[in-house]
Amino acid sequence: MQTSSIPIDYKPRTNLLSGKTILVTGAGDGIGRSAALNYARYGASVLLLGRTEKKLEAVYDEIEKAGGPKPGIITMNLATAPEDMYVSLAASLGEEFSRLDGILHNAALLGDRRPIDSAMYASWQDVMQVNVNAQFLLTRHFLPMLHQAPTASIIFTSSTVGRVGRAYWGAYAVSKFATEGLMQVLASELENTSHIRANSLNPRATNTAMRRAAYPGEDPTANPAPQDIMPAYLFLMGDDSAGITGKAFDAR
Ligand code: NDP
Repeated sequence: MQTSSIPIDYKPRTNLLSGKTILVTGAGDGIGRSAALNYARYGASVLLLGRTEKKLEAVYDEIEKAGGPKPGIITMNLATAPEDMYVSLAASLGEEFSRLDGILHNAALLGDRRPIDSAMYASWQDVMQVNVNAQFLLTRHFLPMLHQAPTASIIFTSSTVGRVGRAYWGAYAVSKFATEGLMQVLASELENTSHIRANSLNPRATNTAMRRAAYPGEDPTANPAPQDIMPAYLFLMGDDSAGITGKAFDAR
């Protein structure tokens, strides 16, 4: 797969996301937490979606303390939420906000890493539900609000194993291939009919709980912190990437 990079030494202007409303999934920890804080720092009202309320509240408090626009909290378990919940969420947010300017699909489960011949179906389903089906449901039901924005950006989070398959990465790798597929189909559908762009972003090795669980023998500090890869998240979410769609990006 051909990949793209953000401009070298990209420096976002301080009001890059001013006036925008952006939904971030998995906003309570790791890369999603950092993206939410940065989107707020650059002016966005951020809707913090995640399954652990306490973590979302901590991010909320951090944004408030830093003087950012008032965020919103959406506590939702993407592994179990039925479609109805997405429908009513979109309806209630539609009453509060006239439009949505961006979605960062970031939440994901690592799941079991074992050979396909011993993979457990229940775990496989959980990973596909969170990593693929939830992205579809959110996108599907929030598209009307995204269409209301003058320009909107959807970022799908990929992975190196979502671009080249690797033994024992099971459902996680397959879910990231599906993520790339969802992004490409959506980008192609929207390209000539809207101002919504969709791209995928592979953060690459980043020091988070997921990375530490995947590579317990690795020195965690050898990898960049989430904050270090934020230029890519800002570039793709802000209007500096207007017109770029259907591309697979690496964060560094
Ligand atoms: P973390 O595990 O640190 O964070 C994942 C976030 O997703 C957490 O906030 C978690 O919530 C949330 N989440 C997980 N399951 C659900 C669920 N069922 N419902 C709602 N929220 C959920 O992972 P990273 O920050 O490392 O990963 C972020 C993204 O980057 C993922 O898509 C991952 O696949 C991708 N990625 C990461 C790499 C890395 O090296 N870190 C490399 C390549 C890709 P909670 O905190 O409550 O558990």
